[in-house]
Amino acid sequence: MSVNNPQRCYVVLSTSGELYAAHLTIEDVYTPVHSRDVDCMPSFIAELPLGRFREIEVHLRVVDKASLTDTPASSDSWRSFRQALLESDAKVFTLLSAARQLMEWQREHRYCGLCGAKTQLVHLPGDRYLQCTDCQHPWYPRISPCMICIIIKDDYLLLAKHKRGGAGFYSALAGFVEPGESIEQSVHREVMEEVSLQVKNLEYIGSQAWSFPHQLMIGFLCHYAGGEISLCDDEIASANWFHYSKLPPVPPIQSLSGQLIQAAVERLQGRAG
Ligand SMILES: [Zn+2]
Repeated sequence: MSVNNPQRCYVVLSTSGELYAAHLTIEDVYTPVHSRDVDCMPSFIAELPLGRFREIEVHLRVVDKASLTDTPASSDSWRSFRQALLESDAKVFTLLSAARQLMEWQREHRYCGLCGAKTQLVHLPGDRYLQCTDCQHPWYPRISPCMICIIIKDDYLLLAKHKRGGAGFYSALAGFVEPGESIEQSVHREVMEEVSLQVKNLEYIGSQAWSFPHQLMIGFLCHYAGGEISLCDDEIASANWFHYSKLPPVPPIQSLSGQLIQAAVERLQGRAG
């Protein structure tokens, strides 16, 4: 199928994780003109089908920006993936998250982890994996569960400033689930490790893919049960209690962290009313 076929569109990512142009609504992603732009990118490193959306096939194409010199795909057509993600609507958020996670998966599984032979993409209806060309082992995309939580104490929320990736925001506590743990156990352990507090009454709020590189964030509100804030984790720069009516800059509502903070504020507003 030609890249000019209007029934196929592309999400284009660079190997350094930038997004080509700005596709912030699902309609923009579908715009066939995008295929024309992609035609200007003669060399690409990988191409993977992302799925069908409203009868249009959407593919991920991964390119090396250095190979695009002297093409219309100029440097100013690229933007921060993270920023684009956080400005997207929910459907595009899902599409972009899938694209970035599959790019990482393909990059990390070019060779079989069992025998070292090359892998190749197998794409069947309802199934997709990289299969070893020698021992045939199928390698599926990796998804890493992470807990994320907001702690409530009276009229206050516990928010933390993370040393990396936080863009100056105060945000929720978060951490990877360890082998053998339940998600609830990971909340108790991570909160203790990061701020030395005990929590209770965990309430599941929602989940969200976070493609840096392949987390599934699982979000909770919980209540303070004891202890004093003491930072014992290298990842946290500071953590404090903030009154729900006087919050510092927090992540946008497109992120699960932003949604958890909003849910906590609404609970406390409702209690005050
Ligand atoms: Zn193998």
